[in-house]
Amino acid sequence: MEGKFVVPGEYIGNIEEYIPGHNVMEENGKLYSKVVGIAKIDKENMTVSIRPLNPVPELKPRQIVYGVVNELYSDFVLVSVMWIENERRQIVGSKQDGVIHISKVSQDYVEDIGKMFRIGDIVRARVIKSKPSLHLSTSEPELGVIKALCMKCRSPLIRKEKVLYCEKCNRIETRKISTLYGNIKIKLLDRDNGEKKDEQKEQGTGKNQ
Ligand SMILES: [Zn+2]
Repeated sequence: MEGKFVVPGEYIGNIEEYIPGHNVMEENGKLYSKVVGIAKIDKENMTVSIRPLNPVPELKPRQIVYGVVNELYSDFVLVSVMWIENERRQIVGSKQDGVIHISKVSQDYVEDIGKMFRIGDIVRARVIKSKPSLHLSTSEPELGVIKALCMKCRSPLIRKEKVLYCEKCNRIETRKISTLYGNIKIKLLDRDNGEKKDEQKEQGTGKNQ
């Protein structure tokens, strides 16, 4: 079994032979691979695991990513990264949260980060560093919020020069607006369903030659 190329659902042994490790599922005492990958046996504890051939890509400094603001603090926001620009393999399966510190929001001085981002905003950001934790910046003009909804009525806000405007409520909101606001069409993966589906689709097409 060691070194064997396996596909999702492939039988790789039974529970008497091995302890199921990473990417291995057990059903009625039988072990199956959950992913496309290479079987690895740890002889010390007789664990079988599958090293996936489609690993979650590691984010690299300078990459441009898209994400959703999901937590707001006094001096930083947390962005759930969902998509990497110009990257065929996208983030699937695991959620990656990136930090945008108040000092990395804009080239201008930011006093109140709550006026730059709101929960639910879609942002385009650059990776500053990915280890040990993911840090992002939106200080360049083309970075920042690319889509936002009105805090009151949830309609998409329209850019009016340096502010965002809700036509329904006749209200203005502020953000760190990307110069690309409203001009980007991206397919964001649905966090609960789309990701799994996409993952399976990717495995099913056998992208690894
Ligand atoms: Zn509104």
